[in-house]
Amino acid sequence: MTEPDAPPTALLGPHVYGQVRQLVLSGELEAGRPLSVPALAAQLGVSRSPVREAVQQLIYEGLAVNVPHAGARVAALDDAQIRDVLAVRAALDGLAAAHAATRLTDAELDELADLVAAQEDNLRGAADTARDTELDLAFHRFIRDRADNRTLADELARLEAQAHLYRGDLWHSTRNRHTALREHRHILRALESGHPESARAAAESHVHGLITRLGRS
Ligand SMILES: [Zn+2]
Repeated sequence: MTEPDAPPTALLGPHVYGQVRQLVLSGELEAGRPLSVPALAAQLGVSRSPVREAVQQLIYEGLAVNVPHAGARVAALDDAQIRDVLAVRAALDGLAAAHAATRLTDAELDELADLVAAQEDNLRGAADTARDTELDLAFHRFIRDRADNRTLADELARLEAQAHLYRGDLWHSTRNRHTALREHRHILRALESGHPESARAAAESHVHGLITRLGRS
């Protein structure tokens, strides 16, 4: 039976997918944990079919893996895999920033500046890792969506989500989060300058910074 305020059936698929993806990206469903379709369906109060589709989509995105005879699990990236993902992301993020540099309007640059300010506010208060992740993803999504290249945006979305599966000091230490924020400000300034090569360099250097910070306490 459908709840009165549940989304219409046609929208249930993307809605459930968004919820399951959020459980994975927030770390509530940790790397390596099973993605049980019946358990998730019960938890979310929906039928199994949209959950099954959501899990398939996560496998396609590289956020989950199918383990023979054991079912789907949240993907776990080791140090070598995260380095591979970030190396590709550095190049593609640079490309996206270079493209976006000549396309962003003043209003969009203001919006991007607001995102950076929100991240700064969040880091000033008590540590809210989920919010920081959300703002980081929003910052990078905003730039790649203005690069005006669907293939690039889709590929970056996959790589970035995969990178966030890596659990470690990379995302969670206070020092690393402040460093990432400084790098975001640097990217913003380069985009404001409108110079594609400065924007490319700033975006690449942010991801290279992430690689350098891997495993560092
Ligand atoms: Zn970032």
